Amino acid sequence: MGCSSDSDSNVNDDGKEQSNNITENRKSVGESAGDLLDDVNYEELYIEIQYVQGLKPSTSTLDHFENFLTERLRKSGGITIELVEIPSPGQDTYSITDVRNLEDDIRTAYNQGSTLKVFGLFLDGAYSENSENGSVLGVAYRNTSFVIFAETIREFSGQPLAPSTTVLESTVLDHEFGHLLGLVNAGTPLQSAHQDTEHGRHCTAEDCLMFWTAETGEGLINMISGGNIPELDAACLADLQANGGK
Ligand SMILES: [Zn+2]
Ligand SMILES: [Zn+2]
Repeated sequence: MGCSSDSDSNVNDDGKEQSNNITENRKSVGESAGDLLDDVNYEELYIEIQYVQGLKPSTSTLDHFENFLTERLRKSGGITIELVEIPSPGQDTYSITDVRNLEDDIRTAYNQGSTLKVFGLFLDGAYSENSENGSVLGVAYRNTSFVIFAETIREFSGQPLAPSTTVLESTVLDHEFGHLLGLVNAGTPLQSAHQDTEHGRHCTAEDCLMFWTAETGEGLINMISGGNIPELDAACLADLQANGGK
């Protein structure tokens, strides 16, 4: 069987070559929103989370994330999250190009049959575009890919009176997945006027999970009160439901 640089080939029981269509997983953020939300093309969701040694998401974070997904997505075949530990890639900062290249090297899960596959990376170091007032905690950067800056999250959760790592981690995870689900006006059409155009693909409601401050450390520390993980507001929920979600 031939081996090509851009597609993983494997052989099924019939001896027929089955090519994992990698290009399906290399589209823009929001392009798979409908496929993630509904049950038409994909009945199953598989999420491969690779984390740098020492930055494993907590069990409560993963439980919370799974509930979040189960409440929103129609996946009759189920939702599976698999964790893989990786060594540090060794950089102090990463641009999105760095993260994309890293994903291309280490990702093993691509759509197969009726299973839609997503790649999540819990990374050390920091985002290269961070500024004094904006420490980015996560980025959704392809239709089925997101990165969580897990070391940066720990720097914020370690501050006095700050929310716990689990609360920050869960919020950023839900928020980035919200972008993969096409929020706000990014693949999932608006059902009402609630896009904060000044901040791109975010929601105008200050207490909504998709408010723009939910992905920077400085913003999130002020947004979270009493250790509660922000939820999607009615406007964002209506968008998801109209695009095939629950
Ligand atoms: Zn965002
Ligand atoms: Zn909203």
